[in-house]
Amino acid sequence: MFARRLITHIKAIRPPAVAGITAALLCLTTLTGQAQMTIPEAAKVQKIIDGLHVVMGVGGNIAVSSGPDGVLMVDDDMPPVAGKIAAAIATITDKPVDMVFNTHWHFDHTGGNQYFGEQGALIIAHDNVRARMAVDQKSLLTNSVTKASPKVALPVVTFDNEISFHMNGQTIVAKHVKRPAHTDGDAILYFKEANVIHMGDNFFNRLYPVVDISAGGTADGMIAAMDAVIADANSDTVIIPGHGPVSDLAGLKAFRTMLDTVNQRIRSLVEQGKTADEVVALKPTAEYDAEWAWEFMPAERWTRLMYDSAVSAIAIENK
Ligand SMILES: [Zn+2]
Repeated sequence: MFARRLITHIKAIRPPAVAGITAALLCLTTLTGQAQMTIPEAAKVQKIIDGLHVVMGVGGNIAVSSGPDGVLMVDDDMPPVAGKIAAAIATITDKPVDMVFNTHWHFDHTGGNQYFGEQGALIIAHDNVRARMAVDQKSLLTNSVTKASPKVALPVVTFDNEISFHMNGQTIVAKHVKRPAHTDGDAILYFKEANVIHMGDNFFNRLYPVVDISAGGTADGMIAAMDAVIADANSDTVIIPGHGPVSDLAGLKAFRTMLDTVNQRIRSLVEQGKTADEVVALKPTAEYDAEWAWEFMPAERWTRLMYDSAVSAIAIENK
């Protein structure tokens, strides 16, 4: 019901992109972890400290830094909820959004770029985010194509290694994840003084994660990205995942343990020459399924994704 309404809406606003958006809808209808997806009346706002909030709509979690120096938002959800995200930010600050930072190229983290870009926000991301958004992207996972974004939605400022923001009493450092992880253009943001880290989709809190193999990602890369954050964090660090509730070091370590265990298990089966069907039949994720599986990523789909990730990681190592 919701999906039909949304598709109608999307057809009205962006006819050339329907195929890609329909695929993305699959994520949209499931990334919230709810069986029956409905667009919420309002996006949720969670205060971390004064001037730093998390806004939750239907896509990736958004961090908002606001204060005397302006407004920076980290990720901006999907087009159908852009107005609701803007309304939620208006409950935090009466200032317009000056800058949007994208943690990676995925539609549920960059889908508001057009809306906020048209309102004058400066969009910033890693070089590979702009490169991917500028052309059609094929996804092996969803067997779909996400169409190239219009110019106004593309990052205007891009960086290679890291970029820092000095505003609202915070030093905010965005570091590119050098080894491809969730994608090949991931950034992790450190709000230094606040001791807050936004991990983008290298952290799914109590949800089996997406690994975008089509965009160069592997589970091994995600684990390496987590290890870097774990080394920098302490027991007081607030860690914002790409999806799921705001967490901490213990929550991140639980995710790492689950991902590493399943990754090693499936990789060893791949090395033994097992086919994907044979691995699925062995149910290598069984003890985690009740807690971590969800509508978009049920156990079998995730097992097959981890199989493909292991095959990809082995191919990269043998290059
Ligand atoms: Zn993602």
